Amino acid sequence: MNPRVVVLGAGFGGLELATVLSESLGDDVDVTLIDKNDAFVFGYSKLDVMFGRATPRAVRLPYRDITKPGVRFLQQEITAIDPEARTVTTDGGVHEADFLVVALGADYDFDATPGLAEGGNEFYSLEGAERLRELLPEFTQGRAIVGVCGAPFKCPPAPSEAALLLHDYLSTRGVRDDCEISLTIPFGTPVPPSPDTSRALVDAFAERGIEFVPSRRVSSLDPARRVAVLEDGSELPYDLFLGVPKHRAPDVVVASGMTEDGYVPVNPKTLEARFPGVYAIGDVATIGVPKAGVFAEGAARVIAASLIARLRGGNEPGAYGGLGSCYVEFGAGRVGRVDVDFLSGPKPTGTFQEPSDALVAEKRRFGSSRRARWFGG
Ligand SMILES: Cc1cc2nc3c(=O)[nH]c(=O)nc-3n(C[C@H](O)[C@H](O)[C@H](O)COP(=O)(O)OP(=O)(O)OC[C@H]3O[C@@H](n4cnc5c(N)ncnc54)[C@H](O)[C@@H]3O)c2cc1C
Repeated sequence: MNPRVVVLGAGFGGLELATVLSESLGDDVDVTLIDKNDAFVFGYSKLDVMFGRATPRAVRLPYRDITKPGVRFLQQEITAIDPEARTVTTDGGVHEADFLVVALGADYDFDATPGLAEGGNEFYSLEGAERLRELLPEFTQGRAIVGVCGAPFKCPPAPSEAALLLHDYLSTRGVRDDCEISLTIPFGTPVPPSPDTSRALVDAFAERGIEFVPSRRVSSLDPARRVAVLEDGSELPYDLFLGVPKHRAPDVVVASGMTEDGYVPVNPKTLEARFPGVYAIGDVATIGVPKAGVFAEGAARVIAASLIARLRGGNEPGAYGGLGSCYVEFGAGRVGRVDVDFLSGPKPTGTFQEPSDALVAEKRRFGSSRRARWFGG
């Protein structure tokens, strides 16, 4: 019987893992890839949808297109995980695993920020981005706040990108002079491991008249008075609130008993959880790296190499390195890049590449190459 690898979640981590296992082991492995959705959407596509740069339909990559030797995709909702027995219950049945990989990402906790659901909007889900796509054309004057409601949150540069792209959007529509934009984040700088990236972003905010409010998360909204209350008690009035909701591990993961302090602790070198044969990668895990797709993908490759070594014989792979490159939208079609190293030194470090045409093309290739590898075509 082939080894059974059950991969929970077909996001950045799960898709990369299933792809590498299929490429290397083909029909000699049984990979079951489970996701409740029928399509994958890149995180950054939500910004494209919100600002009308792409339609919601265009950014959906349907899972039905996955045809890989050894891989079976199931659209099912996971309702229970037993990490000791390595069994998973879904609305479609029970799945037993020799190797179980939890790659279920992070969910959003709207209730953690009173007033957000009634008085604000969020752009971190496709649904939220679609709603804002409808609302933004009506925003012609007043103050917009891009506000982060808790850390850790996915893709730390994304709120900065949203503020810069909002500036472009309002400028193009000729209403920028009638609008103010404020950005508030819980960190002291936009991208803490890379002072150069942070400096470039803060300069870009200043050039565009975007107010930057560091080191404060949004703790609540008061929809009646239209103010955002920050964690130090200060208040920012708003007419439009574009929020990053507080994140948390999906309920089914918390209920499985695998989490500590909200997420699944793993050995950062091997991605193994506390249970034999069980791994966790990406946003659902505590690895010591940011919550971003490139890190989920890198972790997936380490697990894949380890499983391939075990099943085919060969050397165990080197430890997970915690390296990742993120593209940063500066507006006006300009894209920069930050390369970060989270695990090899005593503290995280990052280097910045100035926006360039080459990076615009590189970001496009980043998306199209994954689309081709994960979905074919
Ligand atoms: C606006 C924005 C911009 C971003 N930009 C970038 C960027 O430029 N670069 C970058 O690297 N990252 C970026 N990210 C972050 C990136 O999208 C995530 O960090 C990444 O998707 C995490 O990968 P993952 O595999 O851990 O989880 P995910 O990709 O979130 O996948 C988890 C999957 O699990 C499924 N799932 C959850 N619960 C269940 C259940 N009970 N049953 C079945 N299925 C379930 C979900 O449907 C989902 O498909 C961005 C995110 C946002 C919101």
